[in-house]
Amino acid sequence: MGCGKKCFYCAIVVAVVAWIFNAYPWQWWKREYNIVPPVSYDGRIRFDLDNLQTPCSEDEIQTIVEKAYNENQRIRVVADGHSWSLIAQTQDIMVSLANYTGVDFKNQNPNEVTVNAGTSLRNISLELDKNNLAMIQLGSVAGQSIAGAISTGTHGTGLTIGNIASLVTKLRFISGTGQIVELAKGDERFEAAQVNIGLFGVLSKVTIKVKPKFNLKETRTRHKLDWCIENLSKLASDSDYVYVKFWVEFQNNFCILFQTGETTDNITGAPSDILSFLTYYAFAVVTKITYVIPSKTKFLMLLVNWIGFGFNTVRVDNSYLILNDYFELPVHQEGEILVDFKDSVEALEAVRDVVIEGNFPVNYITEVRFVAGDEIWLSPSYNMPSGICAITLTIYAPSETVERYFTAVYDATKKLNARFHWGKHFYAKRDELNLLYPKMADFEELRLEYDPKGIFINDFIRDTFKFKED
Ligand SMILES: Cc1cc2nc3c(=O)[nH]c(=O)nc-3n(C[C@H](O)[C@H](O)[C@H](O)COP(=O)(O)OP(=O)(O)OC[C@H]3O[C@@H](n4cnc5c(N)ncnc54)[C@H](O)[C@@H]3O)c2cc1C
Repeated sequence: MGCGKKCFYCAIVVAVVAWIFNAYPWQWWKREYNIVPPVSYDGRIRFDLDNLQTPCSEDEIQTIVEKAYNENQRIRVVADGHSWSLIAQTQDIMVSLANYTGVDFKNQNPNEVTVNAGTSLRNISLELDKNNLAMIQLGSVAGQSIAGAISTGTHGTGLTIGNIASLVTKLRFISGTGQIVELAKGDERFEAAQVNIGLFGVLSKVTIKVKPKFNLKETRTRHKLDWCIENLSKLASDSDYVYVKFWVEFQNNFCILFQTGETTDNITGAPSDILSFLTYYAFAVVTKITYVIPSKTKFLMLLVNWIGFGFNTVRVDNSYLILNDYFELPVHQEGEILVDFKDSVEALEAVRDVVIEGNFPVNYITEVRFVAGDEIWLSPSYNMPSGICAITLTIYAPSETVERYFTAVYDATKKLNARFHWGKHFYAKRDELNLLYPKMADFEELRLEYDPKGIFINDFIRDTFKFKED
């Protein structure tokens, strides 16, 4: 074979490998520079790095906000770009708090720490661990900043544990007029600010509840989906396992059940590096193939799920290593509906019907988790005393299929008053939000007080909330 031909074939192999292994700019940028990537996690939002500001102190944040206020410019904070909705889209000025990080342990209450808003959940867990403390709750990944996680109502699983915002006891932000505002539990405004999607100002510090370091034991078992649906409520409320979640595969009618509770048993570590590696790459390869050949989804998902989850496993590890997934999910798209816990089964059946009847090539696991209710105005768990069930829809497909799938599920679960994750594919508009969030008008009033010129409003926010003055 001639040299030119060899180069040509090599180039093709490199391109395919890069594609399969998700060599997205987001990932290499994060690794190389550990600062804001030029695109969001899934590449949907391109950030204009020419307008990037990276303050190192609260004073510097204040100066940026005051300048924007005086010059009628718009600001959006971009944290880790881990949102699929366009909430982090920037207009004039893009602020990153990647240089404003750190955990302060000098609190009066030993079970609280104060964190600079740019700190990632991963670094918080590592710092807490060094000090024999731990986060009470975490989601499936740890790259997000504490501010980003709070702003969108990010959650993990556990019917008795609220989302991460509900663990906050005090927060400080620089409002749209450049004022430093501090709100603490007990103040009604605090409940408005806990999940405010970056609309009250730039969060600078949050105080969160933590607990002494603990280990978790996770038992992973494989079942028929019908069995899981039948036992869903009982399993989710089992007090021996505080953190319960399901990974559902509709096409092949099975589900993986994770039952996790505190333990004093010895640490066993992750299932195995080989298994994590195989699971990641099995998903990476299958999603790429089914992206172009969707008709093979059912068969290939059966294969990948046997590779990844064919055996039941038990493992014990440090809490944060169990609460975060043990393997990375290749880049994909996510939507999420959150319903009253009593409607969990109906919601799951509605999603199953959409997938099967619509023949959607769902080439990831659909995740079912549970979250305690809260009083936070814009939290999807607002005023749900028995807790909520969150169904995460994941898929890697052309954008038209993604949108058709997510809107079909959102429509099918409207009758259950399903709310949506602020950080995932989001289509609801103000009329619907008024019904879903009874405090929406009060929220708007406060927002106007904190940001009278609307400097934190981007196109997505304008279109979604349709604030009166806009
Ligand atoms: C792979 C992956 C896994 C995920 N897993 C989960 C999960 O398990 N559970 C779950 O609930 N969600 C999950 N999410 C969603 C994710 O947690 C949220 O979208 C989260 O908001 C992203 O955080 P971020 O730090 O990247 O913030 P960004 O996406 O950059 O920003 C989110 C919002 O917060 C605002 N914001 C950020 N920092 C500040 C600040 N300092 N002041 C004011 N506003 C600010 C931004 O303006 C924006 O509106 C996941 C996302 C991905 C990509």
